[in-house]
Amino acid sequence: MFVEEILARNRAYVLGRAPRPLAPPSQIDLAVITCYDPRLDELLHPALGLEEGKAFLIRTAGAHVEAGGDPLRSLALAVYLFGVRQVAVVGHAGCRMAAFDTAAFIDAFRRRGVPREAFGPADLRAWAGALPDPRRGVLASVAAIRATPFLPRDLSVCGLILDESSGALEMTQAPDQAVPEGAAVLPPPAGPEPEPAVKTGRGAPPPRPAASAAVSASAAVRPADASPGLEPARSLVRILAASAGWGRDFKRLREELARDAGPLTRLQDLERFIQKAAADSKDVAQALDRLRRETRATGRLSDAPALLELLWRSIREAQP
Ligand SMILES: [Zn+2]
Repeated sequence: MFVEEILARNRAYVLGRAPRPLAPPSQIDLAVITCYDPRLDELLHPALGLEEGKAFLIRTAGAHVEAGGDPLRSLALAVYLFGVRQVAVVGHAGCRMAAFDTAAFIDAFRRRGVPREAFGPADLRAWAGALPDPRRGVLASVAAIRATPFLPRDLSVCGLILDESSGALEMTQAPDQAVPEGAAVLPPPAGPEPEPAVKTGRGAPPPRPAASAAVSASAAVRPADASPGLEPARSLVRILAASAGWGRDFKRLREELARDAGPLTRLQDLERFIQKAAADSKDVAQALDRLRRETRATGRLSDAPALLELLWRSIREAQP
């Protein structure tokens, strides 16, 4: 396991090091808010001419600061407890948050068993802090910091862009330069959120009960049992289980699904089975139609992966 390697390296480190307590905390004038990209690690201190330990380095994806977001909490503490008076937001020219791929993001979390609902009702690009481009990202962060009511008016905030290749900094927002109104809000996405489909190799594993419960509690979306389409999904599962022609096959499928650790394979098997059963049985076809109708009407579960998630959930619930 990786932590064993860390501990082994740490033992070697400690062996060759004389104990040295941390220096007492001192006044620190500067906070730098920059991107979490690890490729910047070796660049940041030399490019900004920062001595180790002489500035707060607050790192967050895309150097993006959103009203009320965590970087502001850290920044306020640094201002009031350590005396920070100057803030530099440092974006970088090749920031990957300006190339944020919503479909790839959805694909990735679904493959890890997390449903879209776990991210709450907000647009995913907004949730992630995706940038239209690095310059506008820096401007938005500067505007958000300046508009924060719990930060002092005399805090100096500027925006910079780092060219990773040359190491050069360019000032995009001077400390005394006004930001345009509304700059703190990044523009909305160009189109609707993509919905990856099972057949193109993108999977939708069943939702994790913990995540669903957390969403219901925090975003007050709905109680877990009132998921749209859950009742028609249960009804379809009951018909499959009770069907003379499909009952035994369904029992076998259920056992196979429970054994199969790969969510994508599981959903593909499930989809194949339901389609076969619907082609063979009028009752199954009607129950599937009803499920599609009811989930489509809510506008939330119109895609195949979400439907299959719901079915998988109903199958697990129905297990003896
Ligand atoms: Zn970045």
